[in-house]
Amino acid sequence: MSTAYLEDASGLPGGHADRVFVPETAEEIAGILREASAGGTPVTIAGAGTGVTGARVPFGGWVLSLEKFTRLEVEPGRATVGAGVLLRDLHAAAARAGQFYPPDPTETGASIGGNIACNASGSRSFRYGPTGRWVERLRVVLADGRILDLGRGEPLDFDPGTIPLPGVTKNTAGYLLRPGMDWLDLFIGSEGTLGVIAEATVRLLPAPESVLGGVVFFRSDDDAVDAVEAWRDARPRMLEYVDAPSLDLLRQRHPDIPAEARAAVLIEQELSGEDDPALDEWIERIEGSGALAEASWFATTAADRERFRKFRHNLPELVNDTVRRAGAMKMNTDYAVPLERNREMLAYYRQRLEAEFPGRYVIFGHIGDAHVHVNLFSDPADPQRATSLLLEFARKAVEFGGTVSAEHGLGKRKRHLLELQYAPEHIAAMRAVKRRLDPGNILGRGTLFNG
Ligand SMILES: Cc1cc2nc3c(=O)[nH]c(=O)nc-3n(C[C@H](O)[C@H](O)[C@H](O)COP(=O)(O)OP(=O)(O)OC[C@H]3O[C@@H](n4cnc5c(N)ncnc54)[C@H](O)[C@@H]3O)c2cc1C
Repeated sequence: MSTAYLEDASGLPGGHADRVFVPETAEEIAGILREASAGGTPVTIAGAGTGVTGARVPFGGWVLSLEKFTRLEVEPGRATVGAGVLLRDLHAAAARAGQFYPPDPTETGASIGGNIACNASGSRSFRYGPTGRWVERLRVVLADGRILDLGRGEPLDFDPGTIPLPGVTKNTAGYLLRPGMDWLDLFIGSEGTLGVIAEATVRLLPAPESVLGGVVFFRSDDDAVDAVEAWRDARPRMLEYVDAPSLDLLRQRHPDIPAEARAAVLIEQELSGEDDPALDEWIERIEGSGALAEASWFATTAADRERFRKFRHNLPELVNDTVRRAGAMKMNTDYAVPLERNREMLAYYRQRLEAEFPGRYVIFGHIGDAHVHVNLFSDPADPQRATSLLLEFARKAVEFGGTVSAEHGLGKRKRHLLELQYAPEHIAAMRAVKRRLDPGNILGRGTLFNG
């Protein structure tokens, strides 16, 4: 068995399984699940393994890989996509047809099934929301082998209870239950614990005429946050943040970053053409913002925007290099807070990190949604210190009315955070839904719930 089925991007060690199944049809999946249910065998559903929470790392039982579900048909306004299709292939197929699939959760080697199971989101979610918003139909196989074809607007036929939702724009912590919710929304974000997603229909938009991209540099965090707060109403499709320690890392590959820059905000605005007034409006907005406007970078061509995309994507790579070279261990957060607590949360992160881990952290991410990722370079001999600090941050995010998981899910590594966010009766309601759909607890055992 390839060890690739025993891992994901979280690095969670110890994965093991007895068998790997690679079915080609929903009926085959149904047969495998019926057998597993009959024998009480755990089944871990495998997408592309880019998840960062250990959700798809199996601890015994069977692995069920969707890699052969590769149907990809693009029509005007929608695409039918097998769960194993990679995000990059859907983006490319949509582009060939002059269309555009809005979700862009950074790692384009992820599968669509995995994106839906995690309700992934990314840089463009500021405008377009998470993956789930673009799902119109799902084919799902339940633990007892039933195959469901579910369309948008089909409500649950039972009352799942109500989970109080945090006041944030993105939340993937647990099942987001409410009476009358769509069946689709139960499976979206359920992290492979309620059913196997075999195929989806997703909505597409016409590709924009052109896109203005910008890397806008600032002398301080305060200036950058002021700009973000002022720019939200303009609804760009991207509002991303990079802090000073991140810029210091990026300087290794981008020596043209201005020396005085201590923060950057990355924007993307769709344009209807070269004479779209939004272009001039952005120039005025940036010039009036206290940014290092002259030294900032702008582009409207695809080639230049690709350079900016690399700039953004180089950062996780550089973080990983730094961690490897230092023999450190990377630990990161996925917390979001209400927009009005954005500045406070960022300042809190900075103050505590400077006190506890000076020179050993970076902060970057989706500041438009008050959702930045802290990446800590921890000492592997003393992981407890970093763990405690990240737990403190999770508590602060919840105290501010936020979420412990904005886009990655909780999986196995972070399942302990569920009880930080929700009361025991809310977790009991989630467990009741799990029991209803998967009474033998065979799917994704150990993900979300302990035991
Ligand atoms: C460099 C990097 C950057 C990333 N950036 C982002 C980002 O910006 N935003 C973001 O949201 N995530 C990001 N991620 C995380 C990851 O890409 C997403 O969580 C992605 O959705 C996982 O998809 P996958 O196919 O790799 O799933 P896997 O890792 O294989 O599985 C993830 C979970 O989904 C379940 N699952 C997979 N397929 C199915 C299916 N067909 N049916 C039911 N359950 C299934 C698995 O059981 C598991 O619980 C990033 C990861 C990396 C490595």
